[in-house]
Amino acid sequence: MKYIASLGKQPTDLKRIILTHSDGDHVGALAALKAATGARVYANPIEAQAIEAAHPSRDLKMKGVQALLFKYIAEPFFKTKPAHVDDFIDDGDVLPILGGLRVVATIGHTPGHISLYLPAHKILFGGDSMTSTKSGLRCSRGMNTWDEAKAKEAVKIQAALGAETVCVGHGPVVRGAPVKFPEA
Ligand SMILES: [Zn+2]
Repeated sequence: MKYIASLGKQPTDLKRIILTHSDGDHVGALAALKAATGARVYANPIEAQAIEAAHPSRDLKMKGVQALLFKYIAEPFFKTKPAHVDDFIDDGDVLPILGGLRVVATIGHTPGHISLYLPAHKILFGGDSMTSTKSGLRCSRGMNTWDEAKAKEAVKIQAALGAETVCVGHGPVVRGAPVKFPEA
């Protein structure tokens, strides 16, 4: 809300909220933001179901003490309120935003994860399909990754798009992207 104000805009100027997936750290403020702005919400059908039920679209791969610590210490911070998804979007859809915003299925981190690509500007929004560091991009992996093999496929799909700039959910914006994908 502060960022919208810093642009000299009103909350109601926010027209669309597009979710890459349903993890709590990405949708935790959705219900409040939707109520404050009246924006339409877009998500893949699998992720939309999870968002509306206020639970993740896949379980984290944890056992024993790690699972207990997560349940009692970390999980309360990831609690979300259910929020309504207005429109389903999926692979191949093009939204009329900034010259065409293309939806790219990037399954792996979660079962219905999507990324978004702006061909006119060569900007890719990768959600959590990858993370970034100053030196480059890394494939989603480990306990929060639903299917690591599919996650690697999702990186290949995205590397082939021709993006110059990649924005992911966790880590800095990556420029000069063609040589910064994991296999490059
Ligand atoms: Zn995530």
